[in-house]
Amino acid sequence: MLIAGNWKMNGDPSSMEEFGRMIARAPEATAKGIDLVVCPPFVLIAKCADRATVSKVEVGGQDCHPEPSGAHTGDISAEMLAACGATAVIVGHSERRTDHNETDALVAEKATAAQRGGLMAIVCVGETEAQRDQGEALAVVKRQIENSVPTNLDPARLVIAYEPVWAIGTGRTPSIDDIAQMHAHIRTILEGRFANAPVRILYGGSVKPGNAAEILAVDNVDGALVGGASLKADDFLGIALAAPAKS
Ligand code: PEP
Repeated sequence: MLIAGNWKMNGDPSSMEEFGRMIARAPEATAKGIDLVVCPPFVLIAKCADRATVSKVEVGGQDCHPEPSGAHTGDISAEMLAACGATAVIVGHSERRTDHNETDALVAEKATAAQRGGLMAIVCVGETEAQRDQGEALAVVKRQIENSVPTNLDPARLVIAYEPVWAIGTGRTPSIDDIAQMHAHIRTILEGRFANAPVRILYGGSVKPGNAAEILAVDNVDGALVGGASLKADDFLGIALAAPAKS
């Protein structure tokens, strides 16, 4: 089980206190076999990674450029993230797809770059509300995986985060049946692409301590990608500790 936190564009040096509380409580999660990854904004990655050397909390980035270095003002490469102590990176988050017009093809390049840089690639997919209303959710997610998750990735360092766009930051979540249906669908697609090698599938979108137990108990849900609730140690750990034991 993997619980990943996405701080988005939140946090400043004073957030290190909250991160310290996460580190202090991390052994409670580790004891249950739960992996924790926190993805702060880039400016805090080195600080968090330095602090996390004594704990089981891994640190990740929220995006990376496809190239390892070069004339790309404002961008950060996977290699740079790794050099700062990151071990993972989120690519293809819906906010990047929307704010920066990221296409599936670009997300595929970033996922490849993440692994080239030695990082675990957390690739986000998910339908909009209009697509779900039109009955297109399953087809949209299939297309996103086919086009943004190259088959030559190492499945052991690949995580798919299913994040329905309409559930992110809204307090709304799909029904448990809808989560189960989508995760089974994603599992089938991944088994076809990675010859049955296990790839973890996270659910993301308004996960809180109060709904985590029910969501994390769903078949083929191997963890959660958590936005807002990952900013507070008690909420983040509350989610992790709500995870049921799964084989
Ligand atoms: C996210 O941004 O990845 C996310 C899941 O956000 P939230 O938990 O706030 O809905």
